[in-house]
Amino acid sequence: MKDKTLITIDHLCKAFGDHVVLRDISTTIREGEVVAIIGPSGCGKSTFLRSLNLLERPTSGHILFEGTDITSPEININKMRERIGMVFQQFNLFPNMTIRRNIMLAPVTLGKLSRQEAAATADHLLQRVGLADKADAWPDSLSGGQRQRVAIARALAMNPDVMLFDEPTSALDPEMVGEVLQIMRDLAHSGMTMVVVTHEMSFARDVASRVLFFNGGVIEEEGKPEDIFCHPRSERLKSFLKR
Ligand code: ADP
Ligand code: MG
Repeated sequence: MKDKTLITIDHLCKAFGDHVVLRDISTTIREGEVVAIIGPSGCGKSTFLRSLNLLERPTSGHILFEGTDITSPEININKMRERIGMVFQQFNLFPNMTIRRNIMLAPVTLGKLSRQEAAATADHLLQRVGLADKADAWPDSLSGGQRQRVAIARALAMNPDVMLFDEPTSALDPEMVGEVLQIMRDLAHSGMTMVVVTHEMSFARDVASRVLFFNGGVIEEEGKPEDIFCHPRSERLKSFLKR
């Protein structure tokens, strides 16, 4: 049983001007955990997720990645980010590159893999996300669900220690949500550490090891899926789940 803390969030606060978005959040992400983040729109879920790789800089507080304080000014944040994969609502594939080249780009540019290794990795990952036949296709020829599966493969090509997902299925047509969630389930079962902001309550219930309910910039309630979905304590969580 793995019990190693990967990320420590220590009294994290974030404000945009005088708009306070995150108010004193502390929690840890352990290796192999799948943490689902749920909560109403505008409560700070994306800001929290983006803080984990410093796409947003904390106003105060610290983020420790394997014990190293990444908010410290001496840290090479780009090196740190190589270990943190991120998948957004919008897939952001490069339209002028084939699918294989999209996946090869980061590891080759950052000198992590040779072109040959990166091509082999891309083909292996495409097989894993069920798109082995699309390596030479262009992004425009793919459906939204297929593009998001490529975006997941692209993030995995850097062999990250943790994968962050920000509502990866929210921009998809309903009939494509299932194929993306299935890839994420497979990834979770492979032991990947994942932090997933999602509106897919069935995914959070079935796949997450822990659920964080965000509300008004704080973690209002936190627990195992069964606690959160079957025995919610706070009135706000109860009314959120009724929607
Ligand atoms: P969620 O993902 O839960 O919907 P967000 O983290 O995106 O919430 O946003 C939380 C609040 O922070 C919102 O009120 C949003 O308008 C505000 N916000 C997010 N990013 C910025 C930014 N770059 N500048 C100013 N305000 C922002
Ligand atoms: Mg968001």
